[in-house]
Amino acid sequence: MAVHRAPAPLDPSSLYGEYPFLPGAESLVRGQAWTVRTLLEEPAYGSARALGRARILAAADDPRAVKDVAEFAGAAADVRYLSFLFARLVLASAPSPAPLRRWAVAESKRSSTRLESLRGTEQAEEIEAVADALLSPMRARADGMEVALVDYVRLATPIREADYRLVRQDLRRGVVVLRPKRAARLLEEAIRRTLAQPIPLAPEVVTLVREREAELLGEVAARMPLPVARSSAGGGVLRPERFPPCIRKMRRTLQKGENLSHAGRFALAAFLPRAGADAETIVDAYRGAPDFDESITRYQVEHITHHAGGVGYEPPECETLRSHGLCAREGDATAESPADRSRDPLCFEERLRHPLQYYRLRGGTVVERGDPETGPPSTPTGGARDRPGSRAR
Ligand code: SF4
Repeated sequence: MAVHRAPAPLDPSSLYGEYPFLPGAESLVRGQAWTVRTLLEEPAYGSARALGRARILAAADDPRAVKDVAEFAGAAADVRYLSFLFARLVLASAPSPAPLRRWAVAESKRSSTRLESLRGTEQAEEIEAVADALLSPMRARADGMEVALVDYVRLATPIREADYRLVRQDLRRGVVVLRPKRAARLLEEAIRRTLAQPIPLAPEVVTLVREREAELLGEVAARMPLPVARSSAGGGVLRPERFPPCIRKMRRTLQKGENLSHAGRFALAAFLPRAGADAETIVDAYRGAPDFDESITRYQVEHITHHAGGVGYEPPECETLRSHGLCAREGDATAESPADRSRDPLCFEERLRHPLQYYRLRGGTVVERGDPETGPPSTPTGGARDRPGSRAR
């Protein structure tokens, strides 16, 4: 069950209960002779298991952690800590990494939401405490929080949003000065990355956890958004194998359950309809995202594809994708597949201006944008697309 909760300043032990991933949080259970087996089986740890199950299921339902977990209310700091360990143990034993990634998103967002919602000195002190423990010190100053340049680069590098690029920061003598909200966002990313790493477990431990928590793991699997193995829309018009490397990489990122930047999500949603995808196919492309929410995705896809009276947004050009680090031609050292590393001659030698140009040159059919007076064009198969304001099918 989930409720809204107003944050209150934390004493040192509550800090570890609220942020159980921080080094030092294990001090909460010092003196308790717990083991993996006792945590999984003994009645003394029943409340920790119940809270751990609640935080796992809450994340499966709502990775954006809009609501807090009601079972947290009144839970002692050591129970919170053990519930966190229990959740990590169960998710590290899950057959698929997707629930762990989704949980990492929810837990990190819950932490950053709390940090954002605090005010004044309390906010600055809690950000400082969390940042110190994560070895990325931040210090309060009259006009915000300051973080060393080297730490800023490390924390912000995985955040692809343009607002976090170094050139847009207030850089002063080796430190970056941030608003507290941005500092909380940086810490969110650091927490997410930490929690998304599965803890190494011996095979016999995995077997034990799977046996003891089979019902919970089944429930989690049932609540996860299912990737839909559909690759074409409207009778085979869509040709994913002819997509440019940048778009292929964006789709793979989502399919692997990894995060894709806002700019990447927009580029993909704007590209797919022009390549012939219907609304349902576009929504399906996002199902693997760790923070996937079906209703929000449908709303956003509808907004992008029906913008300006049904014409839809124009997909970003290569130069724009390059500026967001999304062009496969740039940063090729991080390319994940042989296809990315093959230096596709169309991208590397022809100096394309637009991903749709690539798709067309490879033999794909590009759907023209609609007339704002008449709405979006028919799909290449002749079926009418969704009208503005209608719910995407
Ligand atoms: S050159 Fe253009 S089409 Fe090719 S990977 Fe880069 S952004 Fe995509």
